[in-house]
Amino acid sequence: MTTNHSAQLIDQYGRHFPYLRLSLTDVCNFSCDYCLPNGYQCTNDRSFLSLNEVKHLATAFAELGTSKIRLTGGEPTLRKDFIECIKLVKSIKKIKQIAVTTNGYKLKKNINSWVDAGLTHLNISVDTLDPKLFYSLTGHNRLKEILNGIDHSLTLSLQKIKLNAVLLKDINSHQFDQYIDLIRNRPISIRFIELMQTGDNLDYFNKYHVSAQILKNYLFQNGWTEKLKDKSSGPAVEYVHADYQGSFGVIAPYSKDFCDTCNRLRVSSTGDFHLCLFGDKGYSIRHLLQSEGQRVELKNKLCELLTHKKKTHFLHDNNTGITPNLSSIGG
Ligand code: SAM
Ligand code: SF4
Repeated sequence: MTTNHSAQLIDQYGRHFPYLRLSLTDVCNFSCDYCLPNGYQCTNDRSFLSLNEVKHLATAFAELGTSKIRLTGGEPTLRKDFIECIKLVKSIKKIKQIAVTTNGYKLKKNINSWVDAGLTHLNISVDTLDPKLFYSLTGHNRLKEILNGIDHSLTLSLQKIKLNAVLLKDINSHQFDQYIDLIRNRPISIRFIELMQTGDNLDYFNKYHVSAQILKNYLFQNGWTEKLKDKSSGPAVEYVHADYQGSFGVIAPYSKDFCDTCNRLRVSSTGDFHLCLFGDKGYSIRHLLQSEGQRVELKNKLCELLTHKKKTHFLHDNNTGITPNLSSIGG
């Protein structure tokens, strides 16, 4: 079978996909209330993609125009070969950005070796800056260590550091001042993500979901202005302020037109290709990740599957697709 050498990942709505989110494991050591409230349950297939499979996958995506790969999970840094994964992705010339999303566990101890291996972008999830609340939300009393790890990361050669916080009614929706203080003198982008409903978290969602408009109002009232987006920048809206080194980002999946700027695709830790976090199906491509000789077939398959990508998710109809929680596919 042949493939068009200039084939790119573009869907029927003209959206380009330079960004792959690759889950390395669905195992996690935290028990965030909205994601894995009872901690990780070892019921799933735990034969996660091998380094070789990751190499074949990442190379095929790179040849189809992907320039950014985010390693995620579960908690991706729990993989014993996490540093090898970074090195491997780094060795693919067309991949310019290698990012990780982590809960920050042992960040300070490990971040130097990740950066040495080639990591360029770091996202750490910190849903509250109140130590007690952090403990109750995640099951880990580690906020101080994580914040120390972030400060240490700022001294390294990373291109961008982001702090992710899921917007939670009455938990952090009155703590914006604390986040603002954090970024006065730190060049960090704080991303507030609207809580998304998943298969497992309906009661939690009903109790804690609040529209990101509450944060937008706060930012406008305090002199923050929306930054103009370029076409490739994805669904987050950025806010800046002259007195602050850091910025705010708002990800509001329930907002109108959110999916218009979708620029990402996902592959689960067991090799299922997901066109949308809230799709009704994952497509197994693992059998095509076994050798270099399958590269053309793999690329053709990815392009063919992309034609099935829908224009939007169906969260507004309370349809969360097959995603029980975000750790299962890779948030
Ligand atoms: N364990 C890593 C972490 O927490 O950063 C990476 C995986 S986690 C699934 C990726 C991101 O998804 C985290 O920032 C987390 O807060 C976010 N997330 C998880 N469940 C969510 C939900 N229901 N709605 C919105 N964001 C969610
Ligand atoms: Fe683990 Fe991340 Fe889910 Fe929290 S959000 S339980 S850290 S996968």
